[in-house]
Amino acid sequence: MEDIECTKFETKAVHGRSGFEIRTGSISYPIYQSSTFRHEGLNKSTGYDYSRTANPTRDEVEKTVADLENGKACLAYSSGMAAISGILTIFASGDHIIVSDDLYGGTYRIFEEIYKNYGIEVTYTDTTNISNIEKEIKNNTKAIYLETPTNPLMKITDIKEVSKLSKKHNALLIVDNTFMTPYYQKPLNLGADIVIHSGTKYLCGHNDALAGFVILNDEKLTEKLRFIQNSIGAVLAPFDSWLILRGIKTLHIRLDRQQENAIKIADFLKKQEKVIKVLYPGLEEHEGHDILKNEASGFGGMISFYVDSKETVEKILERVKVIIFAESLGGVESLITYPYTQTHADIPDNIRQRLGVTDKLLRLSVGIENAQDLIKDLKRAIGTK
Ligand SMILES: *Cc1c(COP(=O)(O)O)cnc(C)c1O
Repeated sequence: MEDIECTKFETKAVHGRSGFEIRTGSISYPIYQSSTFRHEGLNKSTGYDYSRTANPTRDEVEKTVADLENGKACLAYSSGMAAISGILTIFASGDHIIVSDDLYGGTYRIFEEIYKNYGIEVTYTDTTNISNIEKEIKNNTKAIYLETPTNPLMKITDIKEVSKLSKKHNALLIVDNTFMTPYYQKPLNLGADIVIHSGTKYLCGHNDALAGFVILNDEKLTEKLRFIQNSIGAVLAPFDSWLILRGIKTLHIRLDRQQENAIKIADFLKKQEKVIKVLYPGLEEHEGHDILKNEASGFGGMISFYVDSKETVEKILERVKVIIFAESLGGVESLITYPYTQTHADIPDNIRQRLGVTDKLLRLSVGIENAQDLIKDLKRAIGTK
């Protein structure tokens, strides 16, 4: 669209970068289901050669996500983990990265089980306290990697403050923005260098595709990442690119409803005898609530909560009917997850216990169903003492 600079988030989300396809006027951006592209003659190209290198549908979703995050460039990957892996390949043996200690289990796994073997040094720390990060900075520290809010404990880190530190030490600040989405939080505006998404979650929004995104401003780094992505090949397929474009069109209204429902559910959960503690960034008493209020325009639709016993966990997971017991998050359907054995099973038990990812913790991704139906479902599942 022309004047994309001036249009607001919702308009960009609905129309994408192009608004429609020029040649046919197609409102729904076409799925270019082609692996390769014809050349008219020697040294003549439409700009497309082979879909690992570039594909028009993937281009459109990349440009759209870049616009939403206020970034100059975006790369679309076949999953969130492929995006994270792509980023990690820019580092070399001997480089050191400081990472949030509470984070998505798969991210921990890729650092520990894959990239450590290639000589990438990793230090985990509670990044909510900036001085913890400062303490860990070494000569070879090349990046600081944050999740905020974290998965699953909803810990909030001040992105602006960390970016001052990362700039001072010439380290890249990488932020996984999966939980907030660009609708609520734009890390590049707050000083981050690289934003990562599991597009599988809110950007897709319908639990029907996997995707990952990397958004950044630096041209040299973009070139490097495109070279690596084309060499390794973890690209987003044309049909999945289209599914994400379609999902993004309703991102803002889905999130508004998810947050509205989440606030009601967090209030309900707080009053339950068997619920010991509710972790929802929208609650005033939530640690870091004020930071998020400053740096984001919303609190999201993710709630974690501790219950009194493992028996209560079992009861809830067996009894929920509207809410579905399944991994993942961000879709229109409400899902309940048991991080201890699902998303965070690969983190050693002593670390999980220290962080608070215990066998009494549940994580709820609030969907867009009727809030009263969701509360009724939880009420019946939790029961009373
Ligand atoms: C799901 C998730 C990932 C991994 O993304 P996939 O699309 O599942 O590969 C990374 N970070 C966060 C915060 C996630 O929730």
